[in-house]
Amino acid sequence: MTDFSTPYRLLMGGELMDTTARLDVVNPATGAVFADCPAAGARELDAAVQAARRALPAWKNLPFAERAACVARFAAALEAHKEPLARLLTQEQGKPIGQSRDEIARAATLSVGITKIPVRDEVILDNAERHIELRWQPLGVAGIITPWNAPVNLAAGPLASALYTGNCAIIKPSPFTPLTTLRIGELLRDILPAGVLGVLAGGDELGGLLTAHPGIDKISFTGSVATGKKVMASCAATLKRVTLELGGNDAAIVLPDVDVADVAKKLFFAATVNSGQVCMAVKRIYAHESIYEALCAALAAEARKAQLGDGLDPATTLGPIQNRRQFERVCELREDARAHGHLEEGAPRPAGGGFFVAPTVATGLAEADRLVAEEQFGPVFPVLKYTDIEDAIRRANDTRYGLSGSVWSRDIEQARRIAAQLEVGTAWVNQHRTTAADVPFGGAKESGLGRVYSRLGLEAYLEPQVISVLKA
Ligand code: NAD
Repeated sequence: MTDFSTPYRLLMGGELMDTTARLDVVNPATGAVFADCPAAGARELDAAVQAARRALPAWKNLPFAERAACVARFAAALEAHKEPLARLLTQEQGKPIGQSRDEIARAATLSVGITKIPVRDEVILDNAERHIELRWQPLGVAGIITPWNAPVNLAAGPLASALYTGNCAIIKPSPFTPLTTLRIGELLRDILPAGVLGVLAGGDELGGLLTAHPGIDKISFTGSVATGKKVMASCAATLKRVTLELGGNDAAIVLPDVDVADVAKKLFFAATVNSGQVCMAVKRIYAHESIYEALCAALAAEARKAQLGDGLDPATTLGPIQNRRQFERVCELREDARAHGHLEEGAPRPAGGGFFVAPTVATGLAEADRLVAEEQFGPVFPVLKYTDIEDAIRRANDTRYGLSGSVWSRDIEQARRIAAQLEVGTAWVNQHRTTAADVPFGGAKESGLGRVYSRLGLEAYLEPQVISVLKA
């Protein structure tokens, strides 16, 4: 077991390093700084990239099975250190401790699941005259940039994909939540050859340096649409491969035949888990007019049942918003909704300086109102009425976002047909937020570029190479 009582350090070239530049980390349940850690700049990035490039030839020549074994050891280390990692994740991110444990367990399962996907070279043609084969080559060094809402899970998927396919990697977590990722770097230091992984905490500018660095071949970016566009523009200079996992404004369309109480529970959870700070959270609910009042009442009842508080308290079901900037944004959208519609607010805000927002159901809003049109990334969500299903589909699709969406009905076939009309990367029926290592996930429209997980996700870390032999 690694002792997590030591100071936080960057991982570069197999060594744990300190810097004089520091990042303060705030506990969102109190609003106060509770730790600090080193902050990397251009010098540390250069050193980590050089170490990764030195490690690359040996790493990429290992068989897939050996690299998969390293990922399996990583997953086992996550499981073995789940409790201290979960506590730290809750302290820096805010989510209830049970959700932190789930995130770490899920990161372990997904990582191993990714390495069960075969990557095979293919013979395209083999006859007396010619032999043509398609080989999949690692890209080189991947930069992995993560946001603050699920720092472990959103690092683990790209990391397992990069490592398994023979790439080295450098992770840059969000400056709001660097600590759990730094501890994961310590665990991986004992598992991976020196240099294969770098973990560099740092500010937004470090992300810019990573995307511009000529020694980086691929960027996996998870974050907002606005930053995703900057990442893509910066990567264009060196034609880096990019995977962009961006924001969403997921609609859930509820048909008249549902069990309202049951669906309300599931939708409430999907809209407010991690205080709504989930790319694929339910962010708009379209309910048929015949069940609209009943569904709104059931959702409001769920909101009143929620326990708002410090995520380390086992009774808490809803933690704070992760940072002050996001807290102010969610409050602004809530006040805009109050001015244009009606709010049913749940659990009262605990005393103290934390960034708490009560779960809130907003009704009476129009499509142009900010809470409907923008990604709120908070536990305040609109319920909108529809009469005609075609109109609901049109309104659900009337957005630049296209991450995911869901349809809820007892008539599975009808729901499936409606789901197929949603302009999204994933359309669920009678569920929301279900992902798996062998199922591609990613955004349509401005919600992203490329897919994570599955064979598609792995191919994003590989360059197809054709060997074409003329025999005669
Ligand atoms: P953000 O875009 O502000 O920051 C994400 C990361 O990018 C951070 O590490 C940040 O330091 C870095 N960064 C900032 N400026 C950069 C630049 N110019 N170049 C390179 N890197 C830069 O996002 P956030 O506020 O941390 O996260 C919230 C957003 O992430 C939401 O929109 C959410 O929907 C989205 N998200 C998407 C997914 C998905 O899988 N599609 C998952 C989680 C979160």
